[in-house]
Amino acid sequence: MPHAFYDEGGNHVKTCTKCKETLPVEHYYKSKIKSAKDGLRSRCRKCYDADTKASNQRRAKKRKQRTHKLSEKHIAWIKEQQYRLSTRETAKAFSKRFWAMKVNPSTVHRIFSGQLHAAPNKKDKTFSIYDMLEEAENHTGSIEDYIENTDLSKLKF
Ligand SMILES: [Zn+2]
Repeated sequence: MPHAFYDEGGNHVKTCTKCKETLPVEHYYKSKIKSAKDGLRSRCRKCYDADTKASNQRRAKKRKQRTHKLSEKHIAWIKEQQYRLSTRETAKAFSKRFWAMKVNPSTVHRIFSGQLHAAPNKKDKTFSIYDMLEEAENHTGSIEDYIENTDLSKLKF
């Protein structure tokens, strides 16, 4: 990683690893990593901000996708925890209960407070792979039986 240096004009500068521009050190954020010799991040502020924004958007999109996967069954389960667990505890218990599925404490809060609930009389006939794995676990017959008796066309990944 190139460190900050003094150019011919005596300016304290550093070359950004992303855009390759050589800019005054004021254009860099301080690094949180102790081993950074010049105490600065390797990307300039502009590149750092752009990358941070992009990854936040990616995360937000993922979060949205995950939230949409909540089925009535999931919502009902969350509601059951309301007087036993906090929102944070429920979110944690949820990912244990439903494999690796995640729910945000803020989503739990919306369910607890009734802002988000399953629509009545509009049962989702599809099921996720998580539902299927869970049911398969509780199934007492052979796995072939189970698959034969399951309408896989309703399976939603
Ligand atoms: Zn840059």
